[in-house]
Amino acid sequence: MAYVDLHLHTTASDGVMSPSEIVRYAKARGLRAIAITDHDTIEGLEEGLSEGEKIGFEVIPGIEISAEHSPGSMHLLGFFIDIHHPLLNEKLDYLQKARAQRNPRIVEKLNQLGIDLTYQDVLKASGGGQVGRPHFAQVLLEKNYVRTFQEAFDRFLKKGAPAYVDKFRFEPKEAIHFINEAKGIAVLAHPNTLDMDGYSELEGLVIRLVEEGLKGIEVYYPEHSALEVAQYKALAERYGLVITGGTDYHGIEKNGLDIGVGRGEMKLPYCLVEELKAARDRALRGER
Ligand SMILES: [Zn+2]
Ligand SMILES: [Zn+2]
Repeated sequence: MAYVDLHLHTTASDGVMSPSEIVRYAKARGLRAIAITDHDTIEGLEEGLSEGEKIGFEVIPGIEISAEHSPGSMHLLGFFIDIHHPLLNEKLDYLQKARAQRNPRIVEKLNQLGIDLTYQDVLKASGGGQVGRPHFAQVLLEKNYVRTFQEAFDRFLKKGAPAYVDKFRFEPKEAIHFINEAKGIAVLAHPNTLDMDGYSELEGLVIRLVEEGLKGIEVYYPEHSALEVAQYKALAERYGLVITGGTDYHGIEKNGLDIGVGRGEMKLPYCLVEELKAARDRALRGER
């Protein structure tokens, strides 16, 4: 049996391995295919795809977009996106500009709180990749303003904390639209982070997202309970959605989850990829 992992992060967002490293690692671990799904960026895809070609390993170009939602958080995965699609690139450029404005505002707020930290420090901590709150936490830790990563989030960086600046997010409808326009398959990631109040509220949301063009649901995910897996599967069947799954690997040192297996419990068969491809082919023919 050949296994797959359809949710992975590289150094292009907040992962530990470069795109080519992750492709080589997945092959060495005996997987048959992976999808690279960095947060809000396609920067790592060219490298990942070409490494896959070089070593004869299947890499699916993907992305993970954060969408506006409350009370929890909504992430939308896009599989098989055309990385050269103009609308996709335009939207991602917009996100990047919004992010570029957000980080200096966090620096400002921290400075107002009496913390001696510059944007250069944070850039250095990011190692040249996307700058995010974990890099702020790292600098706060290095400068001994906090004793742990968690304390940095709790005291300064988390939602509602004094140095928090909300980030710009697309509405789900818009994210689904540009994923689909770029020949991608839009999939609702880890529905358990939506914090929906029960099954029927989740079902209502899924119905709305399907009307807006959603094509799949991430059923298999390390943080999903057996009950959640069963519920998400039922939703997929009921609304004709493809099922995907992945570990959300960021580097095992980050959260103990390894590629392809999560905490050891995951084994996702290659037929998930075949179903995704069938959905893509239907979409390309203009069918639902
Ligand atoms: Zn996510
Ligand atoms: Zn993810």
